[in-house]
Amino acid sequence: MIKNIKVPLLEIRNLHANINDNKILKGVNLSIYEGEVHAIMGINGSGKSTLSKVIAGHPSYNIIKGEILFQGKDISNLDPDLRSHLGLFLAFQYPVEIAGLDNQEFLEAIYNAKRLSMNLPKVNPLFFYELLRKKLKMVKLDESFISRNVNEGFSGGEKKRNEILQFALLDSQLGILDETDSGLDIDALKSISETINTIIKTENKSIILITHYKRLLEYIKPDFIHVMDDGQIIKTGDSNIANLLEEKGYDWIKNITR
Ligand code: ADP
Ligand code: MG
Repeated sequence: MIKNIKVPLLEIRNLHANINDNKILKGVNLSIYEGEVHAIMGINGSGKSTLSKVIAGHPSYNIIKGEILFQGKDISNLDPDLRSHLGLFLAFQYPVEIAGLDNQEFLEAIYNAKRLSMNLPKVNPLFFYELLRKKLKMVKLDESFISRNVNEGFSGGEKKRNEILQFALLDSQLGILDETDSGLDIDALKSISETINTIIKTENKSIILITHYKRLLEYIKPDFIHVMDDGQIIKTGDSNIANLLEEKGYDWIKNITR
């Protein structure tokens, strides 16, 4: 009899990583299953963005020890594009503006690159346009944004929406959203949270939400909250941790865990 043993979508084991010989990640362990929402909180400089970039395969970081498994497969040595084709998506904390690159051409290129990786032919441009229109509606971005250069002159909120648009378009299984809430006013925050909730609920995606603030987690309810400090996850719990952090600060958690 074959037992149905569930493999985590993402499993990080004792991950240590450096940049320019500086140790940043010092033994991270994390397991995420399909459909789960995990929040990672922690003070500035605790290693949250580094963790997300190491998971996505940013070339500036070196893995010293440990492994990253995606759908049970070790991806620690894979190039970022291959990780993306497997279903991993990272929305940057600071999305870059790319002068001279048309947003629609860019989106069509990443969509087709993923299809090619699955041995599927390029999509018909008209079909792509229809698909893109649907996704634009979902992320509440006006159609005019696809004829502009990638992120050029976009407001903070529009850049974040353009990241979510890529996530929705690529239909990635795991989205790592690095401070998607930063720089957004309350209405924009509420609105982008609704979009993310729609993606989670209708498509059973898994999400890692990196955030400083409890406010985002009032709109998107995480199954787990992890607190990062000095390159490690020092506490994991339910959404109540966010309340305690807001009330008592990060020092309190450090004191009870160290
Ligand atoms: P967080 O996202 O939690 O604010 P980061 O992952 O951005 O933290 O940064 C973690 C630590 O890594 C910080 O001390 C930061 O200064 C350091 N760091 C990040 N990038 C570099 C780099 N390119 N060179 C040296 N140190 C870096
Ligand atoms: Mg960061």
